[in-house]
Amino acid sequence: MAFEWVSYFECGNCGLEKPSPEVPYDRLGYAVCPSCGVETMPVYVEMTSFPTVLDG
Ligand SMILES: [Zn+2]
Repeated sequence: MAFEWVSYFECGNCGLEKPSPEVPYDRLGYAVCPSCGVETMPVYVEMTSFPTVLDG
């Protein structure tokens, strides 16, 4: 695991880009921008358009 591709965090507020492992996260899993302190939702949260969400 010498060279592993990492996803990049990009702040939607100030535009800061940083490797995700270097960005602090709060206990809810939100990335916290180390520059301006704005919390950013994880990208995968946007996958809510499946009709099975309301099942059950
Ligand atoms: Zn920021």
